[in-house]
Amino acid sequence: MSSGLQERDEIVRLLSGAPSVALACHVGPDGDALGSMLGLGNALRERGTQVVASWGGAPFRVPAAYDFLPGLDLLVPPEQFPAAPEVFVALDTASADRLGTLADRVTSAQCCVVVDHHASNTRFGGVNLVDVSAAATAVLVADLLERMGEPLTQEVAAPLYTGLVTDTGSFKYVATTPSVHELAARLLATGIRHDLITRAIYDNAPFGYVQLLGRACANAQLVPDAVGGLGLVSCVVAAEDLARSGLGLADVEGVIDVLRVAQEAEIAVVLKGDPLEGGFKVSTRSKGAVDVGAVCTALGGGGHRFAAGFTSHEDGEGTLARLRAELDAAPHLPV
Ligand code: 5GP
Ligand code: MN
Repeated sequence: MSSGLQERDEIVRLLSGAPSVALACHVGPDGDALGSMLGLGNALRERGTQVVASWGGAPFRVPAAYDFLPGLDLLVPPEQFPAAPEVFVALDTASADRLGTLADRVTSAQCCVVVDHHASNTRFGGVNLVDVSAAATAVLVADLLERMGEPLTQEVAAPLYTGLVTDTGSFKYVATTPSVHELAARLLATGIRHDLITRAIYDNAPFGYVQLLGRACANAQLVPDAVGGLGLVSCVVAAEDLARSGLGLADVEGVIDVLRVAQEAEIAVVLKGDPLEGGFKVSTRSKGAVDVGAVCTALGGGGHRFAAGFTSHEDGEGTLARLRAELDAAPHLPV
């Protein structure tokens, strides 16, 4: 069942009538942030709407894994983003602060629309379509476009498929329902090269990344009695190591997926040194017994129940200690 029917109707009305629309996603965009934004952007452009898209963070550089996406020409750096858009749509963004330097558009826009699936969403828009049961924000965009009667072209389908495949962990996570596969089938039916898309996202990185991954895994720590005996595995990717390898934060998103394989640990954590701003971007994953979304929200971040993150300005040890204290206190969910 679709939730937020009234909001969906209202957003369809707004998007159908607006001559120009300004789209934004969260800083440090991932596959669903970029995919849902560019899928919507390409569809709106095809119907003659003036579209710009952006995110409010430095560096304003599309992560290499996503540089194949159609619609990158819609992107403008945040400095060139309209000051007071007529219709402003925030995609995959749980709270206004996640818009970075574009957060002021929430109030300067004539109308702010939020389309998201994060449980931690603060409903900061004038119209909020927040469906926590949606596997990806791309699912919500596909539904809106269907309601608008927009055709699914390859330019629309490729970004939406990117959002769907990344936020379901390649159709492995629990949110992967029959309707997720039905949407995937409709997207594939457009003729998009899903094999090239998933290779670009998952199976294509510089050799320096492979070596950095080795170092990250070699320095990983396993603490079996952490998290009330559920076990914690963690590693650090230092900012200096990133710089030496010629890599950015966006290039090491996949490290957590290797680390979380460790069967002795319920929780996996990667501390990624931020080469530009200092401090750490922290990624956390749970196998289902702990709500890491709530844990990271308590630490000033957010995310989903089993995949979440936060930013820390402490050193590595202090960051991990603060996180461990919060994890130790977290209730254990029935699995
Ligand atoms: P990742 O670990 O892949 O960077 O992020 C996992 C999930 O947590 C994503 O849904 C992402 O949007 C969210 N997340 C990661 N870092 C932060 C943060 O600093 N603040 C908030 N609110 N959410 C975050
Ligand atoms: Mn995202």
